[in-house]
Amino acid sequence: MIELRPHHLLCTQGYSGKGYSDGFVKNMDKVVDYLRNNETATVRLVFSTDCLCSSCPNKKAENVCNTQEQVHRFDSKTVEYFGLEEKDYNYRDITAYIDERMTEDILYDICGDCSWFSKSSCKKNICKSRSGTN
Ligand code: SF4
Repeated sequence: MIELRPHHLLCTQGYSGKGYSDGFVKNMDKVVDYLRNNETATVRLVFSTDCLCSSCPNKKAENVCNTQEQVHRFDSKTVEYFGLEEKDYNYRDITAYIDERMTEDILYDICGDCSWFSKSSCKKNICKSRSGTN
């Protein structure tokens, strides 16, 4: 079972091969490839560190990250905007549900100060169904 923290439902969509370290990218490549190419992929949403944090140089301990305040804010906003719960979801269904409701303003509110926001494909991949409507 793939565990994901809430804002990683966005990161796994926007990811374009760049990350914090070689180990992080290698793990991210594997997880993202699986999620994007398996329509039955299920993810367990956890309000804590997850399977992507496990290979991240910023992880200090269980549920402790170097950028704790920032990532908790990303998680809280993702949960609030889309009414997410700590339970299992079909990855394709929950990301489609999010993307249908996502606007560029909401995405910027959640992710605007993330260092990867302008370097990855977040806006292009997540707001695809809403482009030009904001
Ligand atoms: S920066 Fe923090 S939240 Fe993001 S993957 Fe690394 S440990 Fe997880």
